[in-house]
Amino acid sequence: MINEAKYIWHNGKLIPWGDANLHLLTTAVQFGASLFEGIRAYKTPKGIAILHLDGHLKRLYNSCKIYRIEIPFDIATLRAACFETIAVNELGSCYIRPMVLRGYGAMGMDGVGSPIETYIPTWEWGAYLGVETMETGIDVCTSSWNRPASNTFPGIAKAAGNYNNAALIKMEAQALGFAEAIALSPDGMVSEGSGQNLFAVIDGVLFTPPINGSNLSGLTRRSALDIAEEMGLEVRIEAMPRELLYIADELFFTGTATEVMPIRSLDRIDVGNGGRGPVTEKIQMSFQDIVNGVVADRFGWLSYAE
Ligand code: PMP
Repeated sequence: MINEAKYIWHNGKLIPWGDANLHLLTTAVQFGASLFEGIRAYKTPKGIAILHLDGHLKRLYNSCKIYRIEIPFDIATLRAACFETIAVNELGSCYIRPMVLRGYGAMGMDGVGSPIETYIPTWEWGAYLGVETMETGIDVCTSSWNRPASNTFPGIAKAAGNYNNAALIKMEAQALGFAEAIALSPDGMVSEGSGQNLFAVIDGVLFTPPINGSNLSGLTRRSALDIAEEMGLEVRIEAMPRELLYIADELFFTGTATEVMPIRSLDRIDVGNGGRGPVTEKIQMSFQDIVNGVVADRFGWLSYAE
């Protein structure tokens, strides 16, 4: 359940949490025209740090551009709004969910003519897939659902409608007793999880699929690549056949909610030794140390309130 906070930023003003309501016939509700972001803020010794704030906001503007929506605020305003909303809600480590949607008015499914509504809710939130699993890893399956083809629902846009596909992937995995699933692209190659990018370690080389229109260009993926490059790992961004995952030494997911999560089995086949592998552990620890302010943010991932 969502941990309710006191206020939500809406179109330039803070409104009480309970007043952030929409009419049933809002275009976003009827037809799914809602673009959003999921951002984490961490409580660090230097104050609240928002991870990849500019990257997430840039992705929000890009998602909106793809769907022909102009956000009626500039990026500096939304940036300041994120910090303001965290502050008035007196939050420590938390989640930020900026949303831009086509509101109430237009009748057509394109929603052109409905006002553009911008919201920034924030709430307290901990580990997504559990704290213990950060160490043990999770069991995942290959989804029977594919990710959408890019000329259907573009993967680069973080659109609410895309999450109908993600929900099918996640619900099927959980119904079968898995924590998550890995979905394939329409061409049968590996794409991503329901809300995570995927990495494999094979003979000391780090593999991840390219951003091909079926998957999201994850900011945590970028973080893992930054760390891997610093570690001097060979990185290959290339299309990966499904069977490569069964013979990988290590697999892990990356995502804002998921952070860096080891995968210990795939389709009931152990990944490597069936636990968190050494490369995964190193990347995970480096990531945690930076975002929690334990070590210097040498990659410039964190933003602090001005
Ligand atoms: N893929 C999908 C479908 C997602 O929803 C997410 C989470 N935003 C990711 C990948 C990971 O992206 P990020 O690291 O930017 O959170």
